[in-house]
Amino acid sequence: MKLVLATHNQGKVAELRSILAPVGMELIGYEGPEPIEDGVSFLENALIKARAAHQHTGLPAIADDSGLQVEILGGSPGIFTAIWSGTKDNVANRRLLLAQLKDISAEHRAAAFVCTIALVTDEVEVSFTGTWYGSIAFEERGTNGHGYDPVFIPDGFAVTAAELEPEIKNALSHRASAVSGLIEYLKSNAF
Ligand code: IMP
Repeated sequence: MKLVLATHNQGKVAELRSILAPVGMELIGYEGPEPIEDGVSFLENALIKARAAHQHTGLPAIADDSGLQVEILGGSPGIFTAIWSGTKDNVANRRLLLAQLKDISAEHRAAAFVCTIALVTDEVEVSFTGTWYGSIAFEERGTNGHGYDPVFIPDGFAVTAAELEPEIKNALSHRASAVSGLIEYLKSNAF
């Protein structure tokens, strides 16, 4: 069974392809036009991307949308995670977040990474969301991972996500949970 992943990011395609191969799914990248992500939630943006890929290819399509929610910021950066500083520069984004929380004590720095995966076929539109709870560090630590990993301390750890072994992050993360939900659905619905 073929499944299209609505992303031009070849790294994401390769990562998900290896996860989905054991359940008999062949993942292919999407080469069509990228829609404007004007949704106001992770779910809406994931659906916009998955619908576009489904319409363009006629195949079942999946898309993910993810970001960071910080409690004291009322759930922001949320859907603005990738451009929080006004640019896509990860260093500037992390620096702004740390500056905003500069005077906030450890007990009020709760945060969570969230990932929503949407699946769109001729018959259904369904979604799977994973959440990884933690808190925002006082300074950057670690060099693994990407994005906000150096400033995110997962619950149960004293280190940041960027200090974790990639295998540990990939087993616990928001993306891992969302992918598990997708796999369970694909298995139990005879895709
Ligand atoms: P996207 O949905 O993959 O484009 O990610 C949206 C934003 O959330 C980007 O700024 C990413 O850096 C950030 N983000 C999503 N997942 C993670 C993660 O696992 N670690 C660090 N940052 C993440």
